Amino acid sequence: MSGERVASVVVDVAAEATDKPFDYLVPPELEEEVAIGSRVKVPFGPRKLVGYVVGFPAERDLRHLKPILDVMDLTPPLTPELVKLARWMARVYLCPWITALQAMVPAVLKGKYRRVLRLGPGFVSEGFIAGAEETLVRALQKKGELSLKEALELEGVSRSLVRRMAEKGHLVVEERVGDRTTRKRQTWISPAQPAAVLREAAGKLPKNALRQREMLHFFIEHREDILQPALLSRLGATKSTVDRLVDKGLLHREERETYRDPFAGRSFEKTEPLSLTPAQESVFQKIVAPLREGRHRTVLLHGVTGSGKTEIYLQAITETLNQGRQAIVLVPEISLTPQMVKRFKGRFGGRVAVLHSGLSHGERYDEWRKIRTGEVQVAIGARSAVFAPFPDLGLLVIDEEHENSYKQEEQPRYHAREVARRRCAEHGAVLVMGTATPSVESYYRARVGGYDWAQLTERVHNRPFPPVEVVDLREELRSGNRSIFSRSLKEQLQACVDRGDQAVLFLNRRGFSTFVLCRECGESVECPHCDISLTYHRTNQTLRCHYCGYTRQVPRECPSCGSSHIRYFGTGTQRVEEELARTMPGLRVIRMDVDTTRRKGAHERLLTAFGKGKADVLLGTQMIAKGLDFPGVTLVGVIAADTMLHLPDFRAAERTFQLLTQVSGRAGRHDKPGRVVIQTYSPEHYSIRMAAEQKAESFYREECRLRKRLRYPPFCRLFTLLFSHPDRVKLMQAGSRAARFLAPRLPEGGELLGPVSAPIPRIKDRYRIQIIIKYNNLTDEPTGFVETLRGLKAGLKDPELRLGIDRDGVSLSAGGDG
Ligand code: ADP
Ligand code: ZN
Ligand code: ZN
Repeated sequence: MSGERVASVVVDVAAEATDKPFDYLVPPELEEEVAIGSRVKVPFGPRKLVGYVVGFPAERDLRHLKPILDVMDLTPPLTPELVKLARWMARVYLCPWITALQAMVPAVLKGKYRRVLRLGPGFVSEGFIAGAEETLVRALQKKGELSLKEALELEGVSRSLVRRMAEKGHLVVEERVGDRTTRKRQTWISPAQPAAVLREAAGKLPKNALRQREMLHFFIEHREDILQPALLSRLGATKSTVDRLVDKGLLHREERETYRDPFAGRSFEKTEPLSLTPAQESVFQKIVAPLREGRHRTVLLHGVTGSGKTEIYLQAITETLNQGRQAIVLVPEISLTPQMVKRFKGRFGGRVAVLHSGLSHGERYDEWRKIRTGEVQVAIGARSAVFAPFPDLGLLVIDEEHENSYKQEEQPRYHAREVARRRCAEHGAVLVMGTATPSVESYYRARVGGYDWAQLTERVHNRPFPPVEVVDLREELRSGNRSIFSRSLKEQLQACVDRGDQAVLFLNRRGFSTFVLCRECGESVECPHCDISLTYHRTNQTLRCHYCGYTRQVPRECPSCGSSHIRYFGTGTQRVEEELARTMPGLRVIRMDVDTTRRKGAHERLLTAFGKGKADVLLGTQMIAKGLDFPGVTLVGVIAADTMLHLPDFRAAERTFQLLTQVSGRAGRHDKPGRVVIQTYSPEHYSIRMAAEQKAESFYREECRLRKRLRYPPFCRLFTLLFSHPDRVKLMQAGSRAARFLAPRLPEGGELLGPVSAPIPRIKDRYRIQIIIKYNNLTDEPTGFVETLRGLKAGLKDPELRLGIDRDGVSLSAGGDG
């Protein structure tokens, strides 16, 4: 047994007891295959489990070790760097190691799938084969395809043979999920003979074989391969014409696997780098100086909307590629629009993989594979693209760095910003975080020198910022205007439409949907399972719970007191739409909210229609706040700016400031001057005032001052512990016990708050309480306190009790208990 290697494997069971590597023997026949990051099958007690190889321990006790049964991929899905990153994530975000590993690979690799072998395209032309290779080829020729298992049962066929043949392109190994193939094949037609032979054959065809002759002439002129559907539509021919010519040996037909490119069929016009303005140039230098030296730096690029940040990213990527390194661009899912993708594909063409949530599992896997095999060097995508398995990352860009969506709200509860920083440090890569409204945390870090700071204060070509008017809604009410629209907004809207321009009306969804209230007793109709009001949906006259999906008909009588005086309150997008129709008849409105964009592609369709001038007004929620760039828009209206100010969250002011600043940036981005009207009940609030006055510096300084005084991030770190239980009494007891356990074990500067009722005290019939712990460690390293928390979690005996632990949650009211 000497000379045998031992591999440490983390198995795919996300539980406390299995959350450590187990050692296995690497059998000789798998010796070449097993690497760090390999996915393997191992015996585990009576079961067979999938796991990841995370290391090769030097200390080996070979006794009692069982062998690895199988290696599941020809190329390990993870790199050693990612395996190490997963270890760090598990410790920092308190999740099992396997959960972190799983988060890095496409879903296809998590599910059940079959490995199937086929002959590679063009294999036949390869000539002489013998022995086991021949056995396998014959079997494949006969059966078309074989599972890997069947192939390995053939005489003399080994894994390394299969791998060698796959590397030479003789074999194609394909993963299939259920019956669906994860790779798509296309049929290509090419000339099988020299032009002269085709010409001769064409001459000999019978007179009425018009189509065949035409097709031959096509290939006499075009010697390249062409997709069969393209060929047929070009010549107006049918498949039988091709069949005949293939049978005669004049044309060659083959199936090739293709990547399903979600942007296939779109052509991207090639763009050239613009010559940078002096301001852009100076930012660009701050990025490429460390990039050229392979030195890790984090650059916070605070640049107003339209200041040319994206152009800088593009040129920095070019620089990265020239060095032979790779680049990742993270953008919020919502801004991953065709407009955005076009800018990257236009500059880098086929070197870009796009990972967005609209992809099917198979499509996502295809994009991921292009990254893993080195076929592309740029990955652009939402949060999880931060794990793109590039071997030599040079640049990582996080656009709109302040966005909440970079924090994952379920396990592993990572923040892409932190993961990015970690990866960049490991690779000696430059991290660029761009935004018009930095998070307070990043702003503060840049202020105290933790990040390099680059600023772009002017829009490209000095296009002016729109003037912002703040309207006090209390005044409106006092003067008898009960409408959703202030007189000013209405006037501006009318003027805008009269000019033939377009307007964007923005409504914050959170806490602002329509609900049903009894006018006698003042009770709102609540979800029977969650302590929140049900939302009214006019389209089908129902009330719906946004947390658990509970739906009921609109009651005729108040469920609490039986009164029939029920009315609808709040201002959902539907209500605004109706009021618009009433006050300004004939206005063409496109509404974008969760209801109108549920169907795949709807989002894009609505935006395209608006861009083409099919409507006067675009009315919507958060989803229209950013990333849109319409030349015709000269008015932006915010229906009520203060709806998020009152959320129980220390980031409420920051959110409000960011949102208003982003929304205002939508007006007048092109040649036409724009205008912004913000309606609010709290015009004196600093976040609203400073957003309107475009005083970012003042806002951040004020916000930092408050956070410091109240001790909130960035002046401390937070753990949020969310407990839930169907029984309120047992929950309270568990909460108090946890607090008593933790209190004497707090980390440096630790402060324990709670247990208190969670912002939503009940969801899906489970009561919820939380404990918040503030502490001082501001590095990215895990503290020993994490072990205390793990201990707490491991010690919970009640199976009904759930505890979710979130580090630096982006929202105190969100967060799960899983
Ligand atoms: P941001 O990403 O900061 O919002 P963009 O990169 O989208 O800004 O730039 C805003 C607009 O200005 C775009 O239409 C872009 O093509 C244009 N632009 C950017 N840089 C330049 C430049 N150096 N010269 C001319 N136009 C530019
Ligand atoms: Zn509910
Ligand atoms: Zn009532």
